Amino acid sequence: PQLVNQIAAGEVIERPASVVKELLENSIDAGATRVDLTIDGGGVERIRISDDGCGMTAEQLPLAVTSHATSKLPDDDSLFHVGTLGFRGEALASIASVSQMTIRSRAEGEPSGSQIDIRGGIIESPGPCGCPVGTTIEVRNLFFNTPVRRKFLKTPQTERGHIVEAFTRLALANPKVHFSLRNGDKEMFDLLPTVRWADRIESFFGTEISESLIPIDSEDSQVKITGYACDPSVSRGNNRMQYLFLNGRHIRDRALQHALGESYRGMLMVGRHPVCFLRMTMPPEMIDVNVHPAKLEVRFTDSGRVYSRLLQTLRQRFLSTDM
Ligand code: ADP
Ligand code: MG
Repeated sequence: PQLVNQIAAGEVIERPASVVKELLENSIDAGATRVDLTIDGGGVERIRISDDGCGMTAEQLPLAVTSHATSKLPDDDSLFHVGTLGFRGEALASIASVSQMTIRSRAEGEPSGSQIDIRGGIIESPGPCGCPVGTTIEVRNLFFNTPVRRKFLKTPQTERGHIVEAFTRLALANPKVHFSLRNGDKEMFDLLPTVRWADRIESFFGTEISESLIPIDSEDSQVKITGYACDPSVSRGNNRMQYLFLNGRHIRDRALQHALGESYRGMLMVGRHPVCFLRMTMPPEMIDVNVHPAKLEVRFTDSGRVYSRLLQTLRQRFLSTDM
């Protein structure tokens, strides 16, 4: 089973940022209102995440690091009605198989917490511990037992950049959650909870972006699109500043990205890409998020419709805005 987990880990856990993404998603799924992340050495040396979510009991703890142990999949049908971010039960087991992990957790209503250490997938020294309600997970020495994978990692600065991007996506998707990120002993972000999405956008991208946000709000019977597109004066030469969230999940989708670029057609914006932050809501049966374990890719049952809705919405907005 260890080898199986290490192979699965290769699919889901490519680099420290993949660990961060999975752990942040679990904290959100646990209903956390506050999530604190600390990294050392580009996340390879250490990733530590602390949340005030529902926590796990002493019995649940070892199960959480066992392959396909998910508490989020009540029946087969629910794969098509995914409400939570995780639903495969692979992430913790995969991470644990290629690192040294410590989990401390206390479930709501329990008098005390419990702790386990896992080294390369082997559970060691389970026992009680004192801790507040919630979960703290520490991942050390990522890929210590898979040297080939470790060799493919880039410099700590580059790995840290990927972590910041994963953090940005999750924090943008969940503005009501308090997030912090520390790199070593340096605080990079401390994001207070907010109901104004523009506030959270501003804390990442500054006033140049936040002051040029044009509200987007469009809805038909199936697809709802809200959020912001930026004034074309802050357009970019690439599409990296396009944040798309589908039913609460960050996605990158080539076709939708193309639609965003096309929304500039006829506006003398050749080679430019709009900056945007868009939340799309769609009935779950129109989406298959189970395409790839990293869950970045989705498939739409009617992709043409989603494409043209997005294109039309932005185009109308750009044409009707006095700039
Ligand atoms: P999945 O998220 O797909 O269910 P994971 O491997 O990411 O699979 O997590 C396994 C299980 O561990 C989850 O289903 C959940 O029950 C538990 N778990 C993981 N992280 C947390 C957390 N931060 N708070 C509470 N429970 C957690
Ligand atoms: Mg998960």
